[in-house]
Amino acid sequence: MQTDRALILGLIEACHDAITIHADDLCELDRAIGDGDHGTNMRRGCEAVYLDRERLCCLALPQAIELIGVALVMSVGGAAGPLYGTLLIELGRRLSILENEGDFALIFGEAIEAVARRGRAGAGDKTLLDVLYPIQAEIMRRSTLINIAKRAVLSAELTADMKAMRGRASFLGDRSVGHIDPGASSCAHLTTAICRYLEE
Ligand code: ADP
Ligand code: MG
Ligand code: MG
Repeated sequence: MQTDRALILGLIEACHDAITIHADDLCELDRAIGDGDHGTNMRRGCEAVYLDRERLCCLALPQAIELIGVALVMSVGGAAGPLYGTLLIELGRRLSILENEGDFALIFGEAIEAVARRGRAGAGDKTLLDVLYPIQAEIMRRSTLINIAKRAVLSAELTADMKAMRGRASFLGDRSVGHIDPGASSCAHLTTAICRYLEE
């Protein structure tokens, strides 16, 4: 089977580096409306994937994505692990049966829906979904990688205006307003890193 070695290694490194660089900021955001561990959780997950990269890069891309999802479920801890994990597991499974590239936006949308079901969350609930949905919309309209990344960053910023309806931040009710959601922020950092890598 054809392998996607360079692409898988590049994506793993880009995501690992982005989370390492932003881990402290993500903890800071989570201290304001959660329990302060989002950066630590995500770093643990990215570290686990990074350490396993030589095995993962021997696989076909869809299978690697699925196994990265499994690794995140097992290593991240906290709410974000199963959510990012679900996204990648569902995406990987669907990618392996993708027939033409034009369907990518569609299957990405299905993977996001699986995350929404898993978290019983929707648009506007102040979660990483508030970055995932806009990214999917950009992919759907065939935006450039740069515009997808910009939209992800802007969407994370817009979560500051939202009241958290899911996860720990929802315990704060109205007091969650005025703070960027940590999961939305990590999602924007990861998207930026992936788009930058693919652009090169
Ligand atoms: P924990 O809250 O268990 O400490 P993290 O701090 O790692 O987990 O992750 C928190 C992030 O997870 C939130 O900022 C939010 O984006 C996301 N999140 C939490 N609960 C949900 C949910 N039910 N649905 C979707 N996203 C959620
Ligand atoms: Mg937390
Ligand atoms: Mg926690």
